[in-house]
Amino acid sequence: MASSHIPHSLKSSATAGTKGPFPARGHDHARCVTSALDEAQNLCASKGARLTALRQKVLELVWESHKPVGAYEVLAALKVDRPGAKPPTVYRALEFLLDHGLIHRIERLNAYVGCACPGEKHSGQFLICTECGCAAELQDASIIKALTQGAESAGFELERPLVEVEGKCSACREGRGQP
Ligand SMILES: [Zn+2]
Ligand SMILES: [Zn+2]
Ligand SMILES: [Zn+2]
Repeated sequence: MASSHIPHSLKSSATAGTKGPFPARGHDHARCVTSALDEAQNLCASKGARLTALRQKVLELVWESHKPVGAYEVLAALKVDRPGAKPPTVYRALEFLLDHGLIHRIERLNAYVGCACPGEKHSGQFLICTECGCAAELQDASIIKALTQGAESAGFELERPLVEVEGKCSACREGRGQP
């Protein structure tokens, strides 16, 4: 009779004890925006892509907060500086930003959110707070693994393993109001 030998090391090590992917309430959001714009500059420069003033402005508007924004909200904000902006202006800029991994589209909200780790490979797992509207990315390979296995046993081939989960962020659960 074979006894099972499961080494303890197989237990997956818990991810670093950070407070999770959601930004802390009252954090210095200007720094999030600055670093997102810097990273975008570097990333585009390294790929030879042109981050035009318009694209950069749209990226900045998407980064206005950690809440996903709709294209028409972006357009309305853009019109303050560029009264002639039209929906295609925004959609083309958003497409560029999506193509270069600088923002993500949250399908269920039909809205866009800035990517906090552009340039890194990721698969699109989002936690969406229904109370404050913030969205955060989750990078957990075990989710994709479980999805892949589940799909496989159903004879299903994953093409876009997008995961969008609604719930309440820790700040909202603690009743700390709007960010
Ligand atoms: Zn922030
Ligand atoms: Zn991302
Ligand atoms: Zn929340």
